[in-house]
Amino acid sequence: MARIVQKYGGTSVGDVERIKKVAERIKATRDEGNELVVVVSARSGVTNELIARAKAVCEHPSERELDMLLATGEQETIALTAMALHGVGVAAVSYTGAQAGIFTDRMHTKAKIKTINAGPIIEDLKQGKVVIVAGFQGINDDGQITTLGRGGSDLTAIALAAAVHADKCEIYTDVDGVYTADPRVVKTAQKLTEISYDEMLELASSGSKVMQSRSVEFAKKYNVVFEVRSSFNHNPGTIVKEEVAYMEKVVVRGVAVDKDQAKVIVSNIVDKPGSAAKVFRALADAGVIVDMIVQNVGRHGVANLTFTVPQGDSHRAQKALEPVLAEIGGGQVAIHEQIAKLSVVGVGMKTHTGVAATLFQALADVGINIELITTSEIKISIVVDIARVDEAARVAHEAFHLSQLGV
Ligand code: ASP
Ligand code: MG
Repeated sequence: MARIVQKYGGTSVGDVERIKKVAERIKATRDEGNELVVVVSARSGVTNELIARAKAVCEHPSERELDMLLATGEQETIALTAMALHGVGVAAVSYTGAQAGIFTDRMHTKAKIKTINAGPIIEDLKQGKVVIVAGFQGINDDGQITTLGRGGSDLTAIALAAAVHADKCEIYTDVDGVYTADPRVVKTAQKLTEISYDEMLELASSGSKVMQSRSVEFAKKYNVVFEVRSSFNHNPGTIVKEEVAYMEKVVVRGVAVDKDQAKVIVSNIVDKPGSAAKVFRALADAGVIVDMIVQNVGRHGVANLTFTVPQGDSHRAQKALEPVLAEIGGGQVAIHEQIAKLSVVGVGMKTHTGVAATLFQALADVGINIELITTSEIKISIVVDIARVDEAARVAHEAFHLSQLGV
């Protein structure tokens, strides 16, 4: 007997037929004698629909009321899942985040979990009940309903797994696991048997969104091992866990592409202390998230700064920069949207040399130009022409023999 937390995402509970399928899966796990806490998301599309409705009645809806509204999406699926379980003879009870004892801070729409009072859930488990918990929501010290940010049901599941000391945490989604690259782009992409938290985080920040990043960070902090797998089949998924020594044998574990990037070039800015600070302060104040930053060597008293921002932020970035450049004296802003970021990620980079050389040579061989480069301990990211980034991903995948990874 094991204590298991399962999380089913929006597509897994997308309609009543899917909910019945999920109930069967839960029943099968329960029939093996396991204790089970199940976290569910809203049906896919529901959260977006609710946000659209909120905006239709009020241009800037209050965040408290937004949370009140969005929490209903998950409330629908917990009740239906519990009913579906009753329908197949399984004792089950549904709880909202508040009822499940999930306490958060006061930040409406992006609250952080502070504590979970898991006593009552554990009591239910001991009585043989399957406990169904609404993902993505909690309650703050003022008794107000809060939500945890988009994709927050993952966080609910990971945090509950830590709180109830689960033996196993399974994140069910509509993909089979984490792949060496996007299988729609790289036909030879392989499903990974396992991956470290840090690799998963770097891949997510590089454009392969399988899970909400905050929940992976949380899992790392509390050492919650979890498996990402599909609710549409019975294939084993990918285990996400702490880095272990043998993982370093694989130099590159995955290739990720992010097409939602724009390149901002600030040219001819006065090369003196404080210029860069002013530029990035203005961007931060405008709420623009900056990713890769490159500054060239100053010449004739001026320098160029190049960086990337999410495409949707590029015009806000331009607007924020114009007054600052006027203040500093000189400098022009240009935005290039036809670019994309490609990243190769692997903990083995810490101990292997030549990773950058291999990547750059492979791209040079097919004539793909590299516009920007940044690195972290376990990642190399480059910016290339968006028209060639899929090809670049295939070339990088081949260069690191990821189709033959056999992991
Ligand atoms: N329903 C929420 C969302 O769509 C939470 C989740 O699905 O994880 O963001
Ligand atoms: Mg979701």
